[in-house]
Amino acid sequence: MSEPRYLPLVDTHAHVNLDDFAPDLPDLLNRSREGRFPPIKGRQIDDPILRPFVAGIVCPAVDLESSLRGIELAKEYDFIFAAVGFHPNHTALMQPEDWDACERLVLERDAAANNIVALGETGLDRYWDDAPFDLQRKYFLQTLELGLRAELPVIVHSRDANDDLMAALREFCADARPNSARGVIHSFSGTLDQAEELVEMGFYLGFGGFVTYTSKKFAELWDVARRVRTDRMLLETDSPFLTPHPLRGKLERNEPLTTAFVARRLAELRDASVAEIVAQTTENARRLFQLPELRQKPDQTER
Ligand SMILES: [Zn+2]
Repeated sequence: MSEPRYLPLVDTHAHVNLDDFAPDLPDLLNRSREGRFPPIKGRQIDDPILRPFVAGIVCPAVDLESSLRGIELAKEYDFIFAAVGFHPNHTALMQPEDWDACERLVLERDAAANNIVALGETGLDRYWDDAPFDLQRKYFLQTLELGLRAELPVIVHSRDANDDLMAALREFCADARPNSARGVIHSFSGTLDQAEELVEMGFYLGFGGFVTYTSKKFAELWDVARRVRTDRMLLETDSPFLTPHPLRGKLERNEPLTTAFVARRLAELRDASVAEIVAQTTENARRLFQLPELRQKPDQTER
């Protein structure tokens, strides 16, 4: 029998620093890097030819506490990489000294250790009414600015706010060096035109659960996924949220290994092989976040 084909995935957006994962995190992380899916209705998902496994996880923060927790995890696990920052919905809860603490973490980081690889997630959100929009916008622009100073990419969240996002980014790119912003629009949900303009500005697009959903309301997103430049697409889960089809409703919470299903969907849409999509998105993630060499084979830890 020939060797199985190993597929080293990078989940560029997994909140493994949140409490949802606290009860069984070591177990979940071991399973991820071994490429073992959780049993679904008592059955094990297994494909003897293609062996997807998680070679890297970028872990975004929502506040100072989760930033610190992410850094801790990045120090403990060599395949976890932390982002530091404030989710737009958390900006109203920030203490005055939180921003300064975040800035110090980033500017005084040991770049060679690869523990902090990005800022975020930051951005704009008009869906939840958790924080005044002006405050979200202020911290978003401040985070973009810090990204330039610290030479770190920025993980951007945008929910029901794509027009505002474009306006803010155009303004930022005009004030700063043109097209100098670097980062990913995570769980991208905009139009084809917006996708093109964002790529032009220098951004990558993150694809997760949404692109796998079968409802026609995602048709434009399928088009974006078909057409986006090969060197600008990234895989993500937004774990524990947004479980991809066909696992949606069958998993209690989403987890990094399900990026394999997102890769399968992108392969379908782009008329490529799953192995090609995984190789390309992993290379893209390594380029954007400047990740070190990653594992090429799943870990074989004891069961
Ligand atoms: Zn997120």
